[in-house]
Order: sequence, then C-alpha cells, then structure tokens
Amino acid sequence: MAIAERRDPVPAPPAKLTIRGLRTRAARVPMRRPLATSGGTIAHAPLVLIDLETEEGVRGRAYLFAYSDLGARALRQLLAGILEMVRGDAVAPVAIAKKLHSRFTLMGREGLPTIAISGLDVALWDALARATDLPLTRLLGGELHAVPAYNSNGLGIAPPEKLADEALELLGEGFHAVKLRLGRKTLWEDVLATRAVRARIPAEALLMTDFNQALTIAEALARGRALDREAIYWIEEPIRHDDYAGAARIAREVETPIQIGENFLGTRAMAAAIAAGAADYVMPDLARIGGVTGWLRAAALADAAGIEMSSHLYPEVSAQLLAVTPTAHFLEYVDWAAPILARPLHISDGQAQPAEGPGVGLDWNDEAVARFALE
Ligand SMILES: [Mg+2]
Repeated sequence: MAIAERRDPVPAPPAKLTIRGLRTRAARVPMRRPLATSGGTIAHAPLVLIDLETEEGVRGRAYLFAYSDLGARALRQLLAGILEMVRGDAVAPVAIAKKLHSRFTLMGREGLPTIAISGLDVALWDALARATDLPLTRLLGGELHAVPAYNSNGLGIAPPEKLADEALELLGEGFHAVKLRLGRKTLWEDVLATRAVRARIPAEALLMTDFNQALTIAEALARGRALDREAIYWIEEPIRHDDYAGAARIAREVETPIQIGENFLGTRAMAAAIAAGAADYVMPDLARIGGVTGWLRAAALADAAGIEMSSHLYPEVSAQLLAVTPTAHFLEYVDWAAPILARPLHISDGQAQPAEGPGVGLDWNDEAVARFALE
C-alpha cells in the first residue's frame, strides 16, 4: 500500500492477552494396551489438563503426562503456585519462561517444575494461536503438512508370539513403523523377541526398539552388536539417560543409530548430549524440553548439528511442531490422551495430520474428562 493512501499512519495495537487464571484437572485414563517396559508396567495414563484463562476471554489448553497419580497431584500444586507468579502478566511465553526460570533457580528447575512450566508454556502458545485464529504451525510461520509417525502403543515386554501378532495389529492401524520394548533378562531373549516381530511384519516396515535405560555400557555394546544383524531402525535409551560419554561410546561402536532425548530436561542437557556425540538421533519430550518455547530452541540445536529430531509422547502438539522442525524425523504416536480429546489426532498411511483448527490441536471431551476424573 502506498504511504499516501494511509489515512491513519499509526497501526492498531496488537491484541494483548492477560493471564487471569489457571484451571487444572487430573484424569486417570485407561490405556487400550497397557505397556510393560523394562522399568515397570503402566495401565493408566495419569494426565493433568490445563485450562489457561485470560482477561480477554481467550482460553489456552495443554495436558501433561504425569507418570503416576502422585505426579498428577504434585503437578497441580506446582501449577497453582506458578499461577501466583504470573497472574496479570501478558500471554508472552518467551518472557514468562525467562521469569519462571529465574524464580525456580534456588529451588531447582529439574524435574516436576520443568514439566509444570512446560505445560503452562503450551497453554500460553495455544491461547496466542487461538487469539490469532491460526493453528500453532502457521502461527510459527510454517505450513500444515502430514508428518511421518510410528505406532508406539503396545509391544511391551511380552512373549514373542504375542508380540508378532500385536505388531501386525499396530501396523493395521495405519502405520508403516512400530516400536518394540527391549531389556529382557538376557541378550538372547531380546534377540528372539526382535526376530519374532521382524519375521512377521513386512520387510519395508520400520522397527524401532527402546531399552528404557535398562543396560550397563558393556551389555549395551553386546546387545547393540547383536541387534546390528536384525534390521532395526534405531536403538533407544540403551543406558542411563544422563551418561552421555557412555552413550557416545555405544553410538560409535554400534552400527544401528542410537536414539535418546526423552529425558533432556531443558535444552542445555540436549546441547551437552550433542556436544558429547551421545546419539545419532534425538527425540525431546515437549514437557521436559520446555514446551513450545523449548522445542523451538531444541529444533535449532538439532538443525545446527544436522541431527534428525523426533518427538516423545504428546502427539497432537508434536505434530504441529514437527511441521516447523528443520530436521523433523518421526512422530511417536501414542493414543493415551485420545479418550479425553474431542478430536483425536488423525493418522493415515503412516503419517499424522496436524489439526487444522486454531491452537495447538487440543479440545477436551468434557464428559470423558469427568468420567476418568482423578481427585
Ligand atoms: Mg523411550
């Protein structure tokens, strides 16, 4: 527009949103397929639902996977305390993150505070996206497109014949890739489970594996070398999540790519892991990396290092974020929150389709939330 045509040279101020309140609810959602890992079995997904209220009436939503009922109660208390620190502040996620990081420095951020702050961050971005009537991906400057996904439901520690059947069922839900949990007593048992699944699924189907930190370095080297002969797509968290030197040795000596990242608590942990050469692939968790704000910084780290980046849990929001991640790799699909969502994430032909409505992709099924309420 030519300057001469402007009758009013002063642009209208952008709409400003102000934090008014935070409503949290907890739900204990039964899982369609209880998951047995080397670190224990989970049959219910304890979720904390967050509804951010603004003075302007726009709402922001997020949920957190709380790992246990105790985790859910603790996260709700933390969020209530955090609200007192940010009530009346502008809905400005980058500024809020900076403020809360400083407020939690003395107590320590690592652990539940980071998860609570991440949940608030997602709700703040959701409010911004709803206020501008855009899906998160487009608010961040991207275009909505389908992202490759693998089915991470099921395939826990179970007998090999059962696993082979289940792998086929999971592929039948619209996927070309599945993930098998490993970390049985012996190397041979892990190899047999892997072979049972690999033998039953199509040759072109990808098979990811996850040890959930079960092994020592020596055992990880032995099992990694054995798995190098079994056509595995990646080996996830073979050892303690924070032993980057150990993970680097495994990544060097095992041919199959090593995947880590769901336990990065903030982007500094991820930067340290990358600097140590601890993994071939990374997969930050939305709620541990710092919400949308943390994810964008993590995506820049992965891009600068030239490392493929996948997601961990939270498939609905992760689908929006992988669409703006330069080295986007795979979305981890779990259906754990699907029962309490008005519109669960859509999957077809091995791809997740990010929601096209305004926001991060979350709307509640309130009847289901009430049914599964956890006091
Ligand atoms: Mg994992």
